[in-house]
Amino acid sequence: MLVSATEMLNKAVEGKYAVGQFNINNLEWTKSILQTAQECNSPVILGVSEGAGKYMTGFKTVAAMVSAMIEDMGITVPVALHLDHGSYDGCLKCIEAGFSSVMFDGSHYPIDENVQKTTELVNICREKGLSIEAEVGSIGGEEDGVVGAGEIADPNECKMIADLGVDFLAAGIGNIHGKYPANWKGLDFDALAKIKDLTGDLPLVLHGGTGIPADMIKTAISLGVAKINVNTECQLYFQAATRKYIEEGKDLEGKGFDPRKLLAPGAAAIKEIVKEKMELFGSVNKA
Ligand SMILES: [Zn+2]
Repeated sequence: MLVSATEMLNKAVEGKYAVGQFNINNLEWTKSILQTAQECNSPVILGVSEGAGKYMTGFKTVAAMVSAMIEDMGITVPVALHLDHGSYDGCLKCIEAGFSSVMFDGSHYPIDENVQKTTELVNICREKGLSIEAEVGSIGGEEDGVVGAGEIADPNECKMIADLGVDFLAAGIGNIHGKYPANWKGLDFDALAKIKDLTGDLPLVLHGGTGIPADMIKTAISLGVAKINVNTECQLYFQAATRKYIEEGKDLEGKGFDPRKLLAPGAAAIKEIVKEKMELFGSVNKA
């Protein structure tokens, strides 16, 4: 059964670790992440962008697939199904489709409009038992065609959005989506500390987890980050393993063309990186 992410993240704040959000693209991705979470006895958040939802034919398909897999695979660790960077309408669709958590990304609206739309969605999520994430300060890089510059969130705006009753908050602290450029300045821990001071025990979310050095991840967790989003890294691991399989000519040997064989190395690679992240984030045996 899917659960909201509220309880697992409040526990993470208390226990000073973070729960990974791993984005899914298809059945293999979902299966690999669920298997790893179960093997690591770790809570997990499955992230779905609007683009990935569309790719999988719609949010209803995604919710039905994930719920059925939890049952068929005998998954007992807490699993949340979360819309990543949702629009207002996307949030409504996911609430309707059976997701257990949504992120409303109103960071591109003026703060008043972000406040108004976030408030409406908080009320709906409360009533239906979903958790909701909001964002202040756009996260840099490109996500579904939206390019952000990697802003540092205004701590007072964070406090304003936190007070609306969101369950966790994504605040830009120089993090970006995708691969980090060589001249990246690193995370702004002063900003993070100020945000933490004003938002108290509210779990904070770090987007763009791919390629942030382990020591920065650990410092961020010590300063109140309780959810870390990983997307690109799983894609890179899948790609590298699949490329190796084909370059070694394995697809030409015997039944190597069978999609269940062709996709197996990529699926195994996703398991490897998810396990590595769960260990780094400290969520192993925290289910
Ligand atoms: Zn993000």
